[in-house]
Amino acid sequence: MSLDDEVRAELRELEVTNRLRIPRILDGVQGPHAVIDGRAVINFASNDYLGLAGDPRLVRAAAVALDEAGAGVGSSRLIVGNHRQHVELEAAVADWLRYGGVRLFNAGYAANVGVMTALLRAGDVVFSDALNHASLIDGCRLSRAEIVVFPHADYRALEAALSPARGRRRIVVSESLFSMDGDIADVEVLAALCRRHDAAFVLDEAHAVGVLGPEGRGVAAACGVVPDVVVGTFGKAFGSFGAFAATTRPIAELLWNRARPFVFSTGLPPSVPAASRAALELVRGTEGDQRRVKLAGHARRLRQLEPRAGGAPTSAIAPLLIGGDREVMACTEALLANGLFVQGIRPPTVPRGTARLRIGLSAAHDQQHIDKIGKYLQTLGGTGSDHV
Ligand code: PMP
Repeated sequence: MSLDDEVRAELRELEVTNRLRIPRILDGVQGPHAVIDGRAVINFASNDYLGLAGDPRLVRAAAVALDEAGAGVGSSRLIVGNHRQHVELEAAVADWLRYGGVRLFNAGYAANVGVMTALLRAGDVVFSDALNHASLIDGCRLSRAEIVVFPHADYRALEAALSPARGRRRIVVSESLFSMDGDIADVEVLAALCRRHDAAFVLDEAHAVGVLGPEGRGVAAACGVVPDVVVGTFGKAFGSFGAFAATTRPIAELLWNRARPFVFSTGLPPSVPAASRAALELVRGTEGDQRRVKLAGHARRLRQLEPRAGGAPTSAIAPLLIGGDREVMACTEALLANGLFVQGIRPPTVPRGTARLRIGLSAAHDQQHIDKIGKYLQTLGGTGSDHV
């Protein structure tokens, strides 16, 4: 069999098991209203939680930088691509999160792979929540450290795993607001366990920065915890692109030297950090506060209308467990036919048998949008679950 034939067979296998993913095409600006595959829909599939992706202030900041600095930087930041826009955004994030060092990455995926591989090697042990994002899993695997996966948010199990004092270096890694479940890790307990058992703490706040905590600084800031590394992304609540690791000055310097996705990849186009910096100003200010309050109100209302929707009460990520892969995609199609776009999430993104609708809320939605989706969800079957 040729490679092409083998791949066709693999794709057929994905198709018959309802796992084949087919891209949809977005036209125009990402927002609460979107045009998907030529059809106008209300968009509940995005991570644009604060509704900033189409904001003219971000667009203008990017356009000015594009004009001044051109389309790209031509090399890795270590060579000749370290543009002032990168440096100024790193300083602005350090000031916002009160960390001594910040390193930008080209995406959250690259940040997680970069951080885990730079900090871990063979002989180390990493303790990873079972529902951590694929980028954390890949980073752990690439690092060659021993990986201990603890059941989701089971901190007794984590403590039992941490108790034998082994491993040259030990790192506990978790998301704060979990991307597909919308629940929130007990970051205080995690930090205490790390202190007690001599482990460092890496926290992925990709879905929390901009949305939770004072000035949108995330879950750790909300409870006064200072992880060794916080990873955040600009691709979600900030409506832009790129990501960062906020940490100490020496760790940020090590990342500059050792984080391979950073070292061996072209720097972000200056227009991108410029847009992120404009977003950060909004996120930190009173407008950010207003948007966060509105978003939390939407989250509460959706859960009043449809109590089976999971996640923390004010979480902008509301999963509705459906179970089967075919069933969840049928729900997505039925929603689309009603002008509502909600992505069905299947394995391997989530564990087998837990396919779900993931409803993503935005401060740019209005209450009628929330009522419409809430009422529609009431008509759907599905089990709901404590876990989800
Ligand atoms: N971490 C988590 C928890 C995520 O959900 C994602 C994106 N889905 C990432 C990291 C990667 O971020 P980015 O999209 O910026 O690559």
